[in-house]
Amino acid sequence: MESCIFCRIVAGEIPSAKVYEDEEILIFKDINPIAKVHLLCVPKEHYKTVAELNSAREDVLARAFSKIGSLAPSLRLEHGFRLVMNQGESAGQTVPHLHIHILGGEPLGWE
Ligand code: 5GP
Ligand code: ZN
Repeated sequence: MESCIFCRIVAGEIPSAKVYEDEEILIFKDINPIAKVHLLCVPKEHYKTVAELNSAREDVLARAFSKIGSLAPSLRLEHGFRLVMNQGESAGQTVPHLHIHILGGEPLGWE
């Protein structure tokens, strides 16, 4: 998807502060953080929401969650963190490329 911001970040066409990358996923800092630590984890393949999951994509997403868990202590998330996935416009999804917000680094409210 040429016009997709996150595809362009994955391709290296738009700079980002990368914190982890492998052949399937990229984790980088959110440009407009709403917590002390605010990262985005994206599958490198473009798709918009979990409604587009298939068995191969399920596996990538499962590995992404597992990787986030194992990286957490090295990302200043050892005291806890929140994962958020906005799905569609009504939920506030502004970038139509599936992403997991990783929020933490400080106590988080629940409002
Ligand atoms: P959404 O609103 O779709 O759940 O989240 C999109 C997130 O992407 C927002 O938190 C926004 O700050 C972040 N974002 C949008 N454009 C860019 C960008 O070019 N670079 C980075 N690093 N983050 C971006
Ligand atoms: Zn994309």
